[in-house]
Amino acid sequence: MSDRPHSPKEARRLERLKHGSRAARDVRPRPPAPRRVQRPQPVLGSVAASTSDEPAVVLSKRAVDRLAEGHVERRGAARLVHGEADLLPGLIVDRYADCLTLQTLIEATDARRNLFADLLQRLLAPRAIVERNDVRVRAHEGLEQRKGMLRGVDPGPVEFLEGEVKLVADLLSGQKTGAFLDQAENRLEAGRYAHGRALDCFTYGGAFALQLARRAAQVIAVDVSEQAAAQGREAAARNGAHNVEFKVANAFDLLRAESEAGERYDTIVLDPPAFAKTKASIDAALRGYKEINLRAFHLLSPGGVLVTNSCSFHVDEAMFERTVLQAASDAGRSVQVIERRGAAKDHPTLLGVPETRYLKCLILRAP
Ligand code: SAH
Repeated sequence: MSDRPHSPKEARRLERLKHGSRAARDVRPRPPAPRRVQRPQPVLGSVAASTSDEPAVVLSKRAVDRLAEGHVERRGAARLVHGEADLLPGLIVDRYADCLTLQTLIEATDARRNLFADLLQRLLAPRAIVERNDVRVRAHEGLEQRKGMLRGVDPGPVEFLEGEVKLVADLLSGQKTGAFLDQAENRLEAGRYAHGRALDCFTYGGAFALQLARRAAQVIAVDVSEQAAAQGREAAARNGAHNVEFKVANAFDLLRAESEAGERYDTIVLDPPAFAKTKASIDAALRGYKEINLRAFHLLSPGGVLVTNSCSFHVDEAMFERTVLQAASDAGRSVQVIERRGAAKDHPTLLGVPETRYLKCLILRAP
């Protein structure tokens, strides 16, 4: 029998043996690899025991991670699934106390909304699951507007805690899925800096205002919507916050009138809706941000704190900061950045998709 090697590997083995060096595998040949077990093909749209449990596993992991990370209070509200940035494109799941809301924004998840509702019911046993598919983005996918109950009955107003503050969300008719959960941590943080006389512009249900009210002497909260102000007043009463006054007004007009009247505030929050809904509206949006920030700097007392936000996808951090800087400089104020913040931790972003960093929150001090 020829001892010619049959392969380069065999040649290396013979070479090693010739020189007296032995690799373990020369003396102890490796056992044959076990045969791979073929995984069953996932069958989407079904939760029968014989089919893949992949969506269940992903959903459970998201939900459990959120709770384990500690920033989700069990009695509070949290985003459990944050769409593509959570690697579940088109699926949004929010929890408000013991109720859930579900959004399926693309055709693929929309077709499986009952599957997701079943999985969530099994996983978290919520009192109700509300469908909030009344959002315009669905039109891009040719999906109709739809809202209603997927599981359980209309839970009515759902109370939950944000820090020490009691908030109420109407899951069927509130803005977004009932509240603006992406701002939860920024509201708590803003509350820590609040002092003196405070102004919360674009207040919706008063969620920032009520955090400010814990440290500020007096808070004026402004929204153009009468319904929002009514909800805010109700929330203030629920918290026994007697130092908050809700005004129904256009924030642009109110800011101008107050600054022309020489008013002063020690703490100001600006949390407007997205001014740039499309790329074409970026310039107009920047003019809007400039205007409200300029007025706010005029109104800010020396040493005052401004918490200024933008949730426009199309206005990135650099554009927003440049605009705020121009506003400060036009108002003759120098500005310290105390914190640069984004959406709450339960709204993760993707490093490779900068658009997922849509929410910018600057906490500034003007000496
Ligand atoms: N700060 C809120 C969320 C604000 S959402 C929170 O943390 O929960 C934006 C709000 O701005 C909406 O309630 C909307 O009614 C209000 N709004 C929109 N345009 C406005 C305007 N020109 N003046 C005052 N409020 C306005």
